[in-house]
Amino acid sequence: MIANPSYSLKVYTMAHSSCSFEATSPVVYVTRKEIFSAGHRLLNPQLSQEDNELLFGKCTNPNGHGHNYSVKVTLRGKQDPKTSMVMHLGDLKEHLKSVIDPLDHKSLDLDIPYFKTAMSTGENISVYIWNEMEKLLPNGPAQLYEVKVKSTDKNSIVYRGEKESN
Ligand SMILES: [Zn+2]
Repeated sequence: MIANPSYSLKVYTMAHSSCSFEATSPVVYVTRKEIFSAGHRLLNPQLSQEDNELLFGKCTNPNGHGHNYSVKVTLRGKQDPKTSMVMHLGDLKEHLKSVIDPLDHKSLDLDIPYFKTAMSTGENISVYIWNEMEKLLPNGPAQLYEVKVKSTDKNSIVYRGEKESN
């Protein structure tokens, strides 16, 4: 007896797909937002006051100025089989607060050692927060995906841990 070709093909396809089956898990993104207020001044000490004013405008005001910063940290990962969460949002909140609370109501340039050598731009603030968060999230299913810093409603800066050679 000759098998119906379309029937044979169907059987083969089903068998093939069951052989190559691989288990997958959803990858989910989790974000927590916290805010802090701080003062700072943009200043490149290697340049004259005049050149700093040309570059940074009122952001280089000698007595500084302040912002209400908003910080969003996003984790990317598979869900923990026990909790179905990427990370408990309460834990993420605590980690983020432990990083930004020391910045709150401070003069970034004068009070935070990192900003004595790194200018307190939004870019450097996002890198600083990334580096500090990374120390708190060493392994496990949670991975740091993005740090977003907003100094005003109109400006936001994102760091995703990427690096390029100079
Ligand atoms: Zn500023």
